Amino acid sequence: MKRSVLLGLLLTVGALSIAVRAGTDVSASSGHAAAPQESRAIDIVKLKDNLYVLTSSTPGNAATFSGGNVAVFITDDGVTLVDTKLAGWGQAVLDKVKSVTSKPVTRIINTHTHGDHTGNDGFFGTTVEIIAHENTKTNMEKMDAFKGDNAKFLPGKTYKDRLTVGSGKNRIELYYFGAGHTSGDTFVVFPDLRVLHTGDMFAWKDAPGCDRNNGGSCVAFPQTIAKVIANITNVDTIIPGHSPMQTPKDLQEYQRFLTDLLAQTQAAMTAGKSVDEAAAAFKVDKYPGYKTERVKAAVQAIYDELKK
Ligand SMILES: [Zn+2]
Repeated sequence: MKRSVLLGLLLTVGALSIAVRAGTDVSASSGHAAAPQESRAIDIVKLKDNLYVLTSSTPGNAATFSGGNVAVFITDDGVTLVDTKLAGWGQAVLDKVKSVTSKPVTRIINTHTHGDHTGNDGFFGTTVEIIAHENTKTNMEKMDAFKGDNAKFLPGKTYKDRLTVGSGKNRIELYYFGAGHTSGDTFVVFPDLRVLHTGDMFAWKDAPGCDRNNGGSCVAFPQTIAKVIANITNVDTIIPGHSPMQTPKDLQEYQRFLTDLLAQTQAAMTAGKSVDEAAAAFKVDKYPGYKTERVKAAVQAIYDELKK
């Protein structure tokens, strides 16, 4: 058993080194590389007759992680996608869309700049309307994926505070409430269906990522979510960034969690505690189902932000 594993390993290494020497693409020629694109499959969840979510969005397993949750909104004129997952998953996204409608994808809304939400904007081509917050467009301009010739896949339409697209049952509302995960996170509401897509402003039941290189702020985060709760009151279902569907009650609980995390971190900082000590002292017992995997990174982000 042990011997055959070792032999297999040697053969693999041998095959790889031959491929490298021959100048061939290792990932294409090696049977041990990532699964080819056509075998990639994304799970789909039906929320309404004209609204689906492409999931397989939990980070961790590289074989099944396709990027953030994508909303598939089927209107009279075509399909609107909220986010487009990781690069390389475009065909898998399109295949799932085709499994529920024959209408073409005509519009993409990017909740924010990150590659697991914007990775297939280019796959859908220049005929598709791409919409994002103005700060997200600025952040996207810094990404290699949108440089040079690919700049044509940058959002063609941006907004500052609020934007409505479509009308009647096809209406979509976009809101911006301030910094959090990045400097340009959009909240997307389907008013007729009472559904909200939060992107990574509510990614999971754990501390958020606060991408300070893209203007994110764990200090502003609780206030930004409080504005969402005060202003978006016409929804029953929430599509989060990277976890199963949530409710407005869950978002309220998340806001309390974020407020607690910020207050306790500020207190620990004032008391002269280290980031490690502050993170270890933060307990989530009050928040059923919450994890602490990302607490330390958030505490670090708060320390860095308040230090300046
Ligand atoms: Zn993100």
